[in-house]
Amino acid sequence: MDKKTGDGTREYSCSDCGVFNCRNHNTQYPPFCVTTNKVSEAEIKEIDAIYGGDTLEGRMAISSAQIEGRYYCEKTRVEETILFIKAIGAQKVGIATCIGLISEAKTFAKILQKNGINYVTVVCKVGGEDKREMGLAEEDKIRKGGVDETMCNPILQARVLNREKTDLNVAIGLCVGHDALFAKHSDAPVTTLIVKDRVLGHNPVAALYSKYYNRLYQ
Ligand code: SF4
Repeated sequence: MDKKTGDGTREYSCSDCGVFNCRNHNTQYPPFCVTTNKVSEAEIKEIDAIYGGDTLEGRMAISSAQIEGRYYCEKTRVEETILFIKAIGAQKVGIATCIGLISEAKTFAKILQKNGINYVTVVCKVGGEDKREMGLAEEDKIRKGGVDETMCNPILQARVLNREKTDLNVAIGLCVGHDALFAKHSDAPVTTLIVKDRVLGHNPVAALYSKYYNRLYQ
Protein backbone atom coordinates (compact mmCIF):
# COMPACT_ATOMS: atom_id res chain seq x y z
CA MET A 1 0.00 0.00 0.00
CA ASP A 2 1.41 3.39 -0.97
CA LYS A 3 0.62 5.83 1.83
CA LYS A 4 1.39 8.76 -0.46
CA THR A 5 -0.92 7.99 -3.33
CA GLY A 6 -3.38 5.28 -2.37
CA ASP A 7 -4.00 1.55 -2.10
CA GLY A 8 -3.69 0.65 -5.79
CA THR A 9 -7.41 0.72 -6.47
CA ARG A 10 -7.98 4.34 -5.69
CA GLU A 11 -6.16 7.54 -4.85
CA TYR A 12 -6.25 8.82 -1.28
CA SER A 13 -7.80 12.21 -0.67
CA CYS A 14 -9.52 14.26 2.05
CA SER A 15 -12.04 11.55 2.93
CA ASP A 16 -9.09 9.35 3.96
CA CYS A 17 -7.64 12.08 6.19
CA GLY A 18 -7.69 12.00 9.98
CA VAL A 19 -5.61 15.06 10.80
CA PHE A 20 -7.29 17.95 8.94
CA ASN A 21 -4.27 20.14 9.33
CA CYS A 22 -5.65 22.50 6.64
CA ARG A 23 -8.24 23.48 9.24
CA ASN A 24 -6.39 23.17 12.53
CA HIS A 25 -2.73 23.94 11.71
CA ASN A 26 -1.73 21.92 14.75
CA THR A 27 -0.24 18.79 13.24
CA GLN A 28 1.44 17.48 10.04
CA TYR A 29 -0.16 17.26 6.63
CA PRO A 30 -0.64 13.60 5.57
CA PRO A 31 1.56 12.34 2.68
CA PHE A 32 -1.38 12.29 0.25
CA CYS A 33 -2.62 15.73 1.31
CA VAL A 34 -4.62 17.64 -1.27
CA THR A 35 -3.31 20.97 0.03
CA THR A 36 0.35 20.00 -0.36
CA ASN A 37 0.04 17.82 -3.51
CA LYS A 38 -2.68 19.25 -5.69
CA VAL A 39 -2.69 23.03 -5.28
CA SER A 40 -0.02 25.70 -5.43
CA GLU A 41 0.55 28.73 -3.22
CA ALA A 42 0.11 30.89 -6.34
CA GLU A 43 -3.34 29.41 -6.99
CA ILE A 44 -4.41 29.96 -3.38
CA LYS A 45 -3.34 33.62 -3.64
CA GLU A 46 -5.11 34.01 -6.99
CA ILE A 47 -8.36 32.76 -5.43
CA ASP A 48 -7.87 35.01 -2.37
CA ALA A 49 -7.96 37.93 -4.81
CA ILE A 50 -11.26 36.68 -6.30
CA TYR A 51 -12.81 36.45 -2.82
CA GLY A 52 -11.53 39.91 -1.95
CA GLY A 53 -12.68 41.55 -5.20
CA ASP A 54 -15.61 43.91 -5.67
CA THR A 55 -17.49 41.46 -7.90
CA LEU A 56 -20.49 39.17 -7.47
CA GLU A 57 -18.12 36.31 -6.61
CA GLY A 58 -16.35 38.48 -4.03
CA ARG A 59 -19.65 39.56 -2.47
CA MET A 60 -20.85 35.95 -2.42
CA ALA A 61 -17.69 34.76 -0.68
CA ILE A 62 -17.66 37.52 1.93
CA SER A 63 -21.42 37.38 2.53
CA SER A 64 -21.52 33.63 3.09
CA ALA A 65 -18.60 33.81 5.51
CA GLN A 66 -20.22 36.74 7.35
CA ILE A 67 -23.58 34.96 7.64
CA GLU A 68 -21.83 31.84 8.92
CA GLY A 69 -19.81 33.85 11.44
CA ARG A 70 -22.51 36.22 12.65
CA TYR A 71 -25.41 33.81 12.90
CA TYR A 72 -23.68 30.48 13.61
CA CYS A 73 -26.33 27.99 14.80
CA GLU A 74 -28.86 30.84 15.19
CA LYS A 75 -30.57 31.22 11.82
CA THR A 76 -32.42 28.59 9.82
CA ARG A 77 -31.43 27.88 6.24
CA VAL A 78 -34.45 29.89 5.02
CA GLU A 79 -33.35 32.89 7.08
CA GLU A 80 -29.76 32.52 5.92
CA THR A 81 -30.93 32.41 2.31
CA ILE A 82 -32.85 35.70 2.74
CA LEU A 83 -29.81 37.28 4.40
CA PHE A 84 -27.60 36.04 1.56
CA ILE A 85 -29.90 37.38 -1.18
CA LYS A 86 -29.89 40.81 0.48
CA ALA A 87 -26.16 40.79 1.20
CA ILE A 88 -25.12 40.11 -2.40
CA GLY A 89 -27.61 42.71 -3.68
CA ALA A 90 -29.58 40.30 -5.89
CA GLN A 91 -32.32 42.27 -7.68
CA LYS A 92 -34.21 39.26 -8.98
CA VAL A 93 -34.29 35.71 -7.59
CA GLY A 94 -35.24 32.60 -9.53
CA ILE A 95 -37.04 29.78 -7.76
CA ALA A 96 -36.48 26.45 -9.54
CA THR A 97 -38.86 24.10 -7.81
CA CYS A 98 -40.04 20.53 -8.03
CA ILE A 99 -43.80 20.46 -8.58
CA GLY A 100 -43.99 18.03 -5.66
CA LEU A 101 -42.72 20.78 -3.37
CA ILE A 102 -44.80 23.59 -4.85
CA SER A 103 -46.48 24.20 -1.52
CA GLU A 104 -43.09 24.79 0.14
CA ALA A 105 -42.03 26.94 -2.85
CA LYS A 106 -45.17 29.07 -2.43
CA THR A 107 -44.35 29.62 1.23
CA PHE A 108 -40.79 30.61 0.36
CA ALA A 109 -42.09 32.96 -2.35
CA LYS A 110 -44.34 34.65 0.24
CA ILE A 111 -41.33 35.13 2.50
CA LEU A 112 -39.39 36.72 -0.39
CA GLN A 113 -42.34 39.01 -1.06
CA LYS A 114 -42.55 40.06 2.60
CA ASN A 115 -38.86 40.91 2.42
CA GLY A 116 -39.32 43.06 -0.69
CA ILE A 117 -37.37 40.64 -2.91
CA ASN A 118 -38.39 40.34 -6.57
CA TYR A 119 -38.65 36.74 -7.80
CA VAL A 120 -39.89 34.43 -10.54
CA THR A 121 -40.76 30.75 -10.09
CA VAL A 122 -40.45 27.93 -12.62
CA VAL A 123 -41.61 24.38 -11.85
CA CYS A 124 -39.79 21.26 -13.05
CA LYS A 125 -42.61 20.25 -15.41
CA VAL A 126 -42.38 23.50 -17.40
CA GLY A 127 -43.00 22.89 -21.10
CA GLY A 128 -45.33 19.96 -20.39
CA GLU A 129 -43.36 17.51 -22.54
CA ASP A 130 -44.13 13.81 -22.16
CA LYS A 131 -41.37 11.45 -21.00
CA ARG A 132 -41.69 9.38 -24.19
CA GLU A 133 -40.29 12.38 -26.10
CA MET A 134 -36.93 11.80 -24.42
CA GLY A 135 -37.02 8.11 -25.31
CA LEU A 136 -37.76 6.85 -21.80
CA ALA A 137 -38.92 3.22 -21.68
CA GLU A 138 -42.37 2.44 -20.34
CA GLU A 139 -40.94 0.46 -17.39
CA ASP A 140 -38.94 3.50 -16.32
CA LYS A 141 -42.04 5.62 -15.74
CA ILE A 142 -43.58 6.05 -12.30
CA ARG A 143 -47.02 5.17 -13.62
CA LYS A 144 -47.09 2.15 -15.95
CA GLY A 145 -49.67 1.26 -18.57
CA GLY A 146 -49.09 3.77 -21.35
CA VAL A 147 -50.44 6.81 -19.51
CA ASP A 148 -48.96 10.23 -20.14
CA GLU A 149 -46.25 11.31 -17.70
CA THR A 150 -44.67 14.71 -17.99
CA MET A 151 -40.90 14.87 -17.80
CA CYS A 152 -38.90 17.10 -15.50
CA ASN A 153 -37.17 19.65 -17.73
CA PRO A 154 -34.28 21.22 -15.81
CA ILE A 155 -32.60 22.64 -18.92
CA LEU A 156 -35.78 24.52 -19.84
CA GLN A 157 -36.21 25.58 -16.21
CA ALA A 158 -32.71 27.12 -16.34
CA ARG A 159 -33.25 28.71 -19.74
CA VAL A 160 -36.45 30.47 -18.65
CA LEU A 161 -34.69 31.85 -15.57
CA ASN A 162 -31.72 32.88 -17.75
CA ARG A 163 -34.10 34.87 -19.96
CA GLU A 164 -35.56 36.46 -16.82
CA LYS A 165 -32.01 37.55 -15.97
CA THR A 166 -32.15 36.36 -12.39
CA ASP A 167 -29.16 37.19 -10.20
CA LEU A 168 -29.43 34.09 -8.01
CA ASN A 169 -31.42 30.89 -8.42
CA VAL A 170 -32.79 28.90 -5.48
CA ALA A 171 -33.31 25.17 -6.06
CA ILE A 172 -36.20 23.61 -4.19
CA GLY A 173 -36.40 19.81 -4.19
CA LEU A 174 -35.10 19.08 -7.67
CA CYS A 175 -34.44 15.38 -8.30
CA VAL A 176 -30.90 14.10 -8.06
CA GLY A 177 -29.38 14.62 -11.51
CA HIS A 178 -32.02 17.12 -12.56
CA ASP A 179 -30.45 19.43 -9.99
CA ALA A 180 -27.04 18.94 -11.60
CA LEU A 181 -28.42 19.64 -15.08
CA PHE A 182 -30.20 22.73 -13.80
CA ALA A 183 -27.00 24.07 -12.19
CA LYS A 184 -25.02 23.32 -15.36
CA HIS A 185 -27.40 25.36 -17.52
CA SER A 186 -28.15 28.18 -15.10
CA ASP A 187 -26.42 31.49 -15.89
CA ALA A 188 -26.98 32.71 -12.32
CA PRO A 189 -25.31 31.02 -9.36
CA VAL A 190 -27.48 28.35 -7.73
CA THR A 191 -28.06 27.82 -4.04
CA THR A 192 -30.07 24.87 -2.75
CA LEU A 193 -32.80 25.37 -0.18
CA ILE A 194 -34.27 21.85 -0.19
CA VAL A 195 -32.60 18.62 -1.31
CA LYS A 196 -35.10 16.00 -2.40
CA ASP A 197 -35.25 12.70 -0.52
CA ARG A 198 -38.67 11.12 -0.93
CA VAL A 199 -37.96 8.49 1.74
CA LEU A 200 -36.37 10.61 4.44
CA GLY A 201 -38.50 13.75 4.47
CA HIS A 202 -35.99 15.61 2.27
CA ASN A 203 -33.28 15.05 4.85
CA PRO A 204 -30.78 12.85 2.99
CA VAL A 205 -28.17 13.01 5.74
CA ALA A 206 -30.36 10.72 7.86
CA ALA A 207 -29.13 7.85 5.62
CA LEU A 208 -25.58 8.60 6.73
CA TYR A 209 -26.47 8.77 10.42
CA SER A 210 -28.66 5.70 10.72
CA LYS A 211 -27.33 2.15 11.21
CA TYR A 212 -30.47 0.98 9.43
CA TYR A 213 -28.82 2.11 6.22
CA ASN A 214 -25.79 -0.17 6.69
CA ARG A 215 -27.06 -1.93 3.56
CA LEU A 216 -25.61 0.98 1.59
CA TYR A 217 -22.10 -0.33 2.35
CA GLN A 218 -22.84 -3.73 0.81
S1 SF4 B 1 -6.38 19.05 2.55
FE1 SF4 B 1 -4.87 17.67 3.49
S2 SF4 B 1 -5.04 18.05 5.70
FE2 SF4 B 1 -6.86 18.92 4.74
S3 SF4 B 1 -8.40 17.29 4.90
FE3 SF4 B 1 -7.44 17.11 2.87
S4 SF4 B 1 -5.78 15.64 3.15
FE4 SF4 B 1 -6.39 16.34 5.22
